Amino acid sequence: MSSNHVIPSYLDHSHLGPWGVYLEQIDRVTPYLGHLSRWVETLKRPKRILIVDVPIERDDGTVAHFEGYRVQHNLSRGPGKGGVRFHQDVTLSEVMALSAWMTVKNAAVNVPYGGAKGGIRVDPKTLSKGELQRMTRRYTSEIGIIIGPNKDIPAPDVNTNEQTMAWMMDTYSMNVGGTATGVVTGKPISLGGSLGRREATGRGVYVVGCEAAIKRGMEIKGSRIAVQGFGNVGGTAARLFAEAGAKVVAVQDHVATVYSEGGLDVPALLAHVEANGSVAGFAAEAVLTSEQFWGVNCDILIPAALEQQINAGNAHRIRAKIILEGANGPTTPEADDILHDKGVLIVPDVIANAGGVTVSYFEWVQDFSSFFWSEDEINQRLTRIMREAFNSIWHVAEEHKTSFRTAAFIVACTRVLQAREVRGLYP
Ligand code: NAD
Repeated sequence: MSSNHVIPSYLDHSHLGPWGVYLEQIDRVTPYLGHLSRWVETLKRPKRILIVDVPIERDDGTVAHFEGYRVQHNLSRGPGKGGVRFHQDVTLSEVMALSAWMTVKNAAVNVPYGGAKGGIRVDPKTLSKGELQRMTRRYTSEIGIIIGPNKDIPAPDVNTNEQTMAWMMDTYSMNVGGTATGVVTGKPISLGGSLGRREATGRGVYVVGCEAAIKRGMEIKGSRIAVQGFGNVGGTAARLFAEAGAKVVAVQDHVATVYSEGGLDVPALLAHVEANGSVAGFAAEAVLTSEQFWGVNCDILIPAALEQQINAGNAHRIRAKIILEGANGPTTPEADDILHDKGVLIVPDVIANAGGVTVSYFEWVQDFSSFFWSEDEINQRLTRIMREAFNSIWHVAEEHKTSFRTAAFIVACTRVLQAREVRGLYP
């Protein structure tokens, strides 16, 4: 690194958190960026980081403080876009990495956004609904100085949903003095939400899974699927694969792992989780330990929970031929190498879970034009964009003989840095 580049203190990490994983991915793509590598430093530091204190009055009259973040990693190609996560393990390193992966993802599928992400370090299960609403509204007000329909548009992520987005949209609207539906996506339909948004990420996972199966000469019908994380993404993907005739043999969530050799009854499992908050207690053929999950005999593995779940410790045991990264950053670089050497096709997060942001883009466009599309139109457009992105990145991987992840980064980083270059430096 040249002496022109002094590392800001918050980037000077000695540990390999999610941000470290992202930096390693950028190092891997840099040799393929040609003259644009001159600008690569721009990808290695977020454009803007906002850390906010979020105080709320608890139901018992005491005051609690939570730490919130909004990171805008890169705005070269358009306004910031990325979800908001409520989780007790949220850290600045994690939000920075997630915002950077949004930059890459939005460019990989070519939607006109930069990358951003937000979060609050809180276990939302410990809050009442009233407390959750007060926390969401205060957080929205605190980050209100940098978000907006043309500036940065949040969306749901882990432990946030349509209701969270409705509170965020209402708070922002109250503060600016007019209804601003385009400030968030993933809203309820009654507030300008889009048909198909709720299941868009899982549907995108399914679409790229079908493309990957074609490349591997595999039939979806009768194939064996294992899913980690049975929420919005994992639950929808599992349902679509099951509807296409696949056998969802194992499902793991934050409490338990259930298994059935002949395939779990996915609709019944979804209903069980809806009623009980977890797959635990479902009448499955077997209950596995969380470690046994990784060695399950399956064709397709879908990590759809949190980061760094597939690592050097479990990658050797994985038997899947295809991994579809529903979650963001589920595979560490060491595990990536181990799986690549084993010939496993990993469809990386920046493509595999891009269905959510693609339909978020549709929602934003519909809000601006106040003209809403049918669910069929949305699913067709989503499928077309996902297939095109998958196949164009596949060609780049073949051309450069790289992994699918590096190819996705080549396509995405080239788009971001071309925009950076042609915009030039201000002033
Ligand atoms: P969610 O809150 O709906 O579901 C999360 C699931 O993961 C739950 O089933 C939970 O039990 C499980 N889980 C949590 N910790 C776990 C652990 N330690 N081990 C096993 N399972 C665990 O969240 P979601 O919206 O489905 O998001 C899942 C992942 O997908 C995240 O990485 C998120 O960033 C990514 N993602 C989500 C979207 C979206 O539109 N929701 C879009 C792109 C990417």
